[in-house]
Amino acid sequence: MSNALSLLKDVFGYDAFRGAQAEIIAHVIAGGDALVLMPTGGGKSLCYQIPALARQQDGHGTAIVVSPLIALMHDQVGALEEAGVKAAFLNSTLDAEQAADVERRLLRGELTLLYAAPERVTTPRFLGLLDTLHREGKLSLFAIDEAHCVSQWGHDFRPEYRALALLHARFAGVPRVALTATADALTREDIVQHLQLERARQFVSSFDRPNIRYAIVEKKDPTLQLLRFIEREHAGEAGIVYCQSRKRVEEIAELLCKQGVDALPYHAGLDAQVRQRHQDRFLRDDGVVMTATIAFGMGIDKPDVRFVAHIDLPKNIEGYYQETGRGGRDGLPADAWMAYGLGDVVNQRRMIDESPAPEEFKQALRGKLDALLALAEATDCRRVRLLAYFGEASEPCGNCDNCISPPAVWDGTEAARMLLSTIYRVQQANGLHFGAGHLMDILRGKDTEKVRQFGHQQLSTFGIGAQYSEQQLRGVLRQLIATGALAVDASSFNTLHLTAGSRAVLKGERQVLLRESVSQPAGRTRRERG
Ligand code: ADP
Ligand code: ZN
Repeated sequence: MSNALSLLKDVFGYDAFRGAQAEIIAHVIAGGDALVLMPTGGGKSLCYQIPALARQQDGHGTAIVVSPLIALMHDQVGALEEAGVKAAFLNSTLDAEQAADVERRLLRGELTLLYAAPERVTTPRFLGLLDTLHREGKLSLFAIDEAHCVSQWGHDFRPEYRALALLHARFAGVPRVALTATADALTREDIVQHLQLERARQFVSSFDRPNIRYAIVEKKDPTLQLLRFIEREHAGEAGIVYCQSRKRVEEIAELLCKQGVDALPYHAGLDAQVRQRHQDRFLRDDGVVMTATIAFGMGIDKPDVRFVAHIDLPKNIEGYYQETGRGGRDGLPADAWMAYGLGDVVNQRRMIDESPAPEEFKQALRGKLDALLALAEATDCRRVRLLAYFGEASEPCGNCDNCISPPAVWDGTEAARMLLSTIYRVQQANGLHFGAGHLMDILRGKDTEKVRQFGHQQLSTFGIGAQYSEQQLRGVLRQLIATGALAVDASSFNTLHLTAGSRAVLKGERQVLLRESVSQPAGRTRRERG
């Protein structure tokens, strides 16, 4: 039996490696660099813990694990100690004396693994200690966990990670393994570049989470939709509801509580003690619904989260994937549910436009948002789309909303052209721009004060779209904005503007396909229909 396998059995009590673990572990034990992409729950930790044990047995000394998450460090060190592995951590929770003690143990070669925060690893003092070990050949490997934190395009950018680039040159010959559960092509490139992992072997596992059912619904009355979803499908079960702002977290938590859901708020604006208390209850008690900003979740290992809901649009697919990935870690069915509407598109576009970031950066953010919007607008398998984003080809899953009940689509091309030409005509006539509400009123031929004020009943497009419901037109606008065929000017009352992309639609070169607005009686869910 190989040494790695006997360590797996003897130390961790497992019978067999999972997925690419065996290959990765053999590669790192042999001294190779590795970039490991594996979904949450895939078993990344063993990919450096077993090499650390094996290499120490071969006389290579201690492994340094860089981790940004204090809670996770504590959990892992606790679990390792229980398994009889000598491990410790260095982070801001230790006082000077405790830290000095850990350093002494490190220098005496008493540790198999040392976990440290990135800002700690790159201090001159700590680098000095590592130099000493390195001279004696007593650094077995570096593991860089949550490696996507090095990418400024991602949602967890931590500038301290950039400094880890120096490990390569300074500690030549010490293998490095970078690990992450989230990395699209752009982030992956960033990791390779910034951590100097050009020569590392890449191990990319499947990102599929087959037990998660993805569903994205059109936003109408989102809080009511959320409540229905919880009551019908997850009453009494644990879940996470992600909201965009702290204020919204508070509102939704309160509303859910009023309706008898055991909901708690969590965001960075709450007192640390309150946050801790809420997190503890979520982990310990059954059926708590955590209503949270994205401040919640990293490093939380609760196996029986039965649903993850997004009541607001996340920023990009990586965020969506990581957040939804917190559901169903026990392998049992879990729901990823999201409500998505016109306002979300407008908001996210505005936040990017208004951010003070350089144009190149905004361009990257827009590209990422577009990919998410395409997922939300998709009328085919969500999972195929999601996995394709991570570079993985797959077949329709049969377990997402679109697979379970393929949406009827209607051709919104004509309505889109009517809307765009209305915008064009209004601009010609008045030299002004208007928002979605007024434009829809014109198209539907509504006699409002504003219509009369601007003489818009005289436009040739006035009333020509009377057959469309407001909801249908909203869907058309949402998709036009989502696909860049229409722009929103946030600095001037969210007015709508034609773009270069409008032409193709106006000229009939681009089709606008929309899912049929579900005009079913309120209270029947898609799943019941299917
Ligand atoms: P990740 O860091 O990728 O999210 P972890 O390393 O925390 O995942 O592993 C997830 C869970 O799977 C842990 O409980 C771990 O003990 C378990 N696990 C990992 N590898 C194996 C294996 N080969 N056999 C059985 N259980 C495993
Ligand atoms: Zn599907």
